[in-house]
Amino acid sequence: MIIAIDGPAASGKGTIAKRVAAHYGLAYLDTGTLYRAVARDTLARSRDPADADEALNSAKALDPSTLGDPGLRKPGLAEAASLVAKHPEVREELLAYQRSFARAKSGAVLDGRDIGTVICPDADVKLFVTATPEERARRRYLELKQAGIEVSEAEVQCDIRRRDERDKHRAAAPLRRAPDAHLLDTTNFDIDAAFKAAIDLIDAALARAGHAG
Ligand code: C5P
Repeated sequence: MIIAIDGPAASGKGTIAKRVAAHYGLAYLDTGTLYRAVARDTLARSRDPADADEALNSAKALDPSTLGDPGLRKPGLAEAASLVAKHPEVREELLAYQRSFARAKSGAVLDGRDIGTVICPDADVKLFVTATPEERARRRYLELKQAGIEVSEAEVQCDIRRRDERDKHRAAAPLRRAPDAHLLDTTNFDIDAAFKAAIDLIDAALARAGHAG
């Protein structure tokens, strides 16, 4: 079974996807870490993430055993990740890893921007998780504050909007809801309510498709 979960930054999709994977006993891949790792490796070589050839070299040399690096979640890497993610050749290079992860025997949950549209268009269930830009900025701001990172809420909102725009309007695999994805707006939900809504949508979709449990 493959569950595809897409959505913009700080929509709650990562936390939901992790809990959904644990609930159904499936493997979990946060595909954002791939783009973040390519950005990390490009910057580590003092190269420009906006340079397609340099980003592609990093993608080709990517070592999947480094995807657990906690440094990948640093807010500074998000911007560089969205720059490397614009290059079609980088996306193409990362495709096989994501597809083979999805097809692992036990099934998988993948979250990202193009899982339901490009990586796993045949996923058993697709969710598109969203929330208003204001609420997403508020959540990200609180996360950063808790981590001791000094930044204003207005700055966070500005970063999120810029990244959303780039992700939505790039030519290669833009962020968009697949026509058959179930919309989950988490604006007024805490994480437990969002998780429950996700499970309800997935169980209903699986029952309609005739899956057992
Ligand atoms: O989800 P996360 O914030 O870690 O993603 C960082 C960036 O990686 C996104 O802003 C987006 O540009 C890119 N990305 C992508 N496709 C994915 C996952 C992430 O383009 N499937």
